[in-house]
Parts: sequence; structure tokens; C-alpha cells
Amino acid sequence: MARYIFITGGVVSSLGKGVASSALGALLQARGYRVRLRKLDPYLNVDPGTMSPTQHGEVFVTDDGAEADLDLGHYERFTGRSANKMDNITTGRIYQQIIAKERRGDYLGATVQVIPHVTDAIKEFVLDGNEEYDFVLCEIGGTVGDIEGLPFFEAIRQLGNDLPRGGAIYVHLTLMPYIPTAGELKTKPTQHSVRELRAIGIQPDILLVRADRPVPAEERRKLSLFCNVRETAVIQALDVATIYDVPIAYHHEGLDTEVLAAFGIDPAPKPQLQRWHQVVDGIRNPEGEVTIAIVGKYTGLKDAYKSLIEALYHGGIANKVRVRLDWIEAEVFEQEDPSPYLERVNGILVPGGFGERGSEGKIHAARFARERNVPYFGICFGMQMAVIEAARSLAGIEKAGSTEFGATPEPVVGLMTEWLKGNELERRASKGDLGGTMRLGAYKAELKAGSKIAGIYGDTAIEERHRHRYEVNRDYRPVLEEAGMIFAGMSPDGLLPETVELQDHPWFIGVQYHPELKSRPFEPHPLFASFVAAALEQSRLV
Ligand code: GLN
Repeated sequence: MARYIFITGGVVSSLGKGVASSALGALLQARGYRVRLRKLDPYLNVDPGTMSPTQHGEVFVTDDGAEADLDLGHYERFTGRSANKMDNITTGRIYQQIIAKERRGDYLGATVQVIPHVTDAIKEFVLDGNEEYDFVLCEIGGTVGDIEGLPFFEAIRQLGNDLPRGGAIYVHLTLMPYIPTAGELKTKPTQHSVRELRAIGIQPDILLVRADRPVPAEERRKLSLFCNVRETAVIQALDVATIYDVPIAYHHEGLDTEVLAAFGIDPAPKPQLQRWHQVVDGIRNPEGEVTIAIVGKYTGLKDAYKSLIEALYHGGIANKVRVRLDWIEAEVFEQEDPSPYLERVNGILVPGGFGERGSEGKIHAARFARERNVPYFGICFGMQMAVIEAARSLAGIEKAGSTEFGATPEPVVGLMTEWLKGNELERRASKGDLGGTMRLGAYKAELKAGSKIAGIYGDTAIEERHRHRYEVNRDYRPVLEEAGMIFAGMSPDGLLPETVELQDHPWFIGVQYHPELKSRPFEPHPLFASFVAAALEQSRLV
């Protein structure tokens, strides 16, 4: 039977609960256990699909088409297990189910209440589908004390009693701030946070304390005493240079041993951490460096591009180089010549994006890359902009545009209303809701044998994750291919262009899907590995 580890946070948000949970999952996995990580998000959105990436960070997409919290990306990268729709739930989704049941009359006249109806629905979700796992790690979003988080905390408290003895433990992540004038790390915020947790009825078994310098033994004792946690279970979580260092660092601090001890499990044998050491060594000792320009729109909040950044780093690991990222607001190129910004970079990447603002700038970036033979990687929106650029410059279709920005006489990118998923026809209403109406999740594509992209994958059959409404219009395929842009990848039914590439260019590839979502430190995505290799090649030329 699965054992449960509930991970909560206190003091402040953004402490890296997602990475901490992932690292613990990776450590248990390295000891041979089967682990599953799940996220409970207290906000009212049904899923983060409609939330701005500048506020909430990237929307992660699973194979089965869920728009999920970005922490699921960390879970996948750290454990290699592909997440699914059932690994992330929000208050909005719980209420949506409950209200639908209430309208159907399923509650048979009962008054529907937070306790027990909402908490029962949460518990059902937490316990569902865990048969094949040894450990299920559930991370609760937000921090203890948030009003909207209360039903989740109540549900996990109840689970502590519902499950057999030794079936669940609680890990609480907090912050010890350093106060320069006193020259001390302070325990008080953690004490308050644990007090809050205990008031709800949860006694943490393990404290994971984030600090920017080592926690002195004295302070550790104090935390143990005031928070009612045994001293060995107060684990310091110091800042590290790369997130892939976290599993090793936590193991050194004894986190995995302490977790097993809390369950009464004998902690021998030691975890197999070789592959983590290899990854970290690769990152610490690069043999070169490349600079990649990311021409996007949400460049203020890096979390908006979490998986993309990681995938580029994985491409660096594959080539033993450091990847430096140069963030450029696409709008800049609408007024200015891109050359001074792009002349020094070794590769240009235009990532996914939505809306007209900045689009002409991205088109200018694609043009620069094409004309100057700089490696270009267009992802989703970045492919669409590259196709518009090629239509205008190579095929002479001056008015080429996307219907995403309004009516256009030459809809090189437009809305498709029907397509096949496996054998099923999927339909999309052009004026429907915005939430959950995109082409989402894993789709197969067929790559033309002998194309550059098929060479990179080493295969002609691929499956990648999508998240978009618009598609490159296949009606323009003949003129564009004539002009040198090859539609190397198509959906199996031949209707939807999936990848494009320029014939006479060292590396110019656009993909309609999001390859970054499937890249992992131990298995860098072939497109990112190849793109970074091309950038390295380019760096040797200049
Ligand atoms: N806005 C474009 C679309 O909806 C691209 C989306 C994306 O880049 N993820 O098709």
C-alpha cells in the first residue's frame, strides 16, 4: 500500500516547494521505490490554463492534455515519470464537480458543506489511483494560513487518521531569514508557521528549513524544541548553484533517511545517486559556452519559460557547454534594427506566445536568423512567425498574417476547427470558451524521411505535446516549399503542419508543439541537444 508524504510551506511563498518535493521524490526513487508526485492548488481557477504566465508562471501540459501547474514539470524532470491529468487539482475543479453533483441532486437533500463534502472530494482525489506506488508525495500550493488553503490542510489532517498508522507523514518547508544587523539566522518565522500548522491539527514530522547560510546547531536545537520536531528531523536546505544539486544536497543533510525513519523503515541501502552526480558535474565543469537569444514577451518573469530554460540547459549538458540566455523583448525589434542585439548571439529562439503585441518583432528576429545563417528554433508561436516571415520574404506574399491578430487576406496561420486525435474527430468552436479549448496534449506526427528533423530525432514517427489554437495553413504548403521552406512534419492525417525547416540554412527549424515539455536532464530532448550543438558550431565561426 502506498505511503503518503504531505509537503506544506510556510513563512513566504516561492521557497521552491516544487523542487524540494521533486528532490525528495528523486531520492526515494534512487533507493528503488516507486514514487508519484501530485499537486493540490488552493486557487479557484479550474486549471491554470487561463492564468497569465506573468503571474503564475508557465502552464505545463501533460500527455493526456491537462493544463497544469509548472511544478508538474519539475516532478517529471526529476523523476522521469510522466504526469497526468490526475496529478494536479485545484479548488476550482473540486467545486466544479461538487456543484455539478449538487445540481443533479446526488446529495439527496443534504446540506452541502466544506466539511465533509469538499474535504471528502479532496481526500478521494489524493487516495485515487495509487496502487502501483510505494510513496505518493502531495504538495499543497500556497502557504499555511491562507484562507483558501484551509480545506486542503483539513483534508490532509484527516488523512493522517484515516490511513493506517505510519501511513502518512508531514514535511513543512519554511524560511530562516538572515538579519544582517543582528548577524543571525532567525527561527521565529518558522516557529510561527509551525504554530499555525499545529493549530489546524497538523504536527510536522520533518522541517525543511531554507537558509542562505548554514544553520548553527544552537538554532537547530531551538527549532526542534519550539516546533516539537526531533532535532535530526530539522533539515537545513541551503541555496545551491543548480536545482539538480538539490537531491544530493538533501541527501547529505539526511532528508531521505529521516523520511524513512519517520515511517519506521530501515534506511539501508544507500540511494544510487551516480546519475545525479554526473549531471551536476557536467553543469559545473562546462567545456565551452554558447549564447542563445530568447525573443519573447514575458521576459520579466522567468518562470513563464521554466521548461524552456531547463530544456536549453539540458541541451547544454548534452554538449558539455554552458548555455547563456539573452532575454530580449520582441517589441524592441518593432522599432529598432535587430542586428545590434542579435549579432553577438549563437542561436535565436522564439518561444510560444499569444497575441499580436511583439509579433512583428519576432518576425524580424526570424528574418535576421534566416538571412544571417544563425541557428533559429521556433517553438509553436515561434514556428508560426517564421512561416509568416518566409511567406512574406521568400514567397512574396506580402500580406501574409495570422488570423489570431484579426482578419487577414492571406491567412498563412489560421484557426482549424476539426482534426483527428487517434481515430477520433475533435472539434473546436471558433467562438467558444477560452479555457480548455486548445489543441492540447500529446499528438503523433510523421516526419519526412531524409529531412533534417527526422535526422535529429533518428526517427520518422514522433509524439509531442501541444498547446495552441492556431495552425499553419497547409494550403500555403506548395508555394512555401517551392520557396525553400519544407513542411517536414505533418499530422498523421496530413492536415496539420507540425514542423518546418529551411533547406538552405545550417539550422532553421520550427515546430508547432512544445518539445521543451518532454526534455529531462538525463535525456535531453534531441531538438535542444541539436540546437545547442548548432549554436556551438556557429560560435566557432565568429
Ligand atoms: N498563439 C498561438 C496559438 O494559439 C501559439 C500558441 C503557443 O505558442 N503556445 O496557436
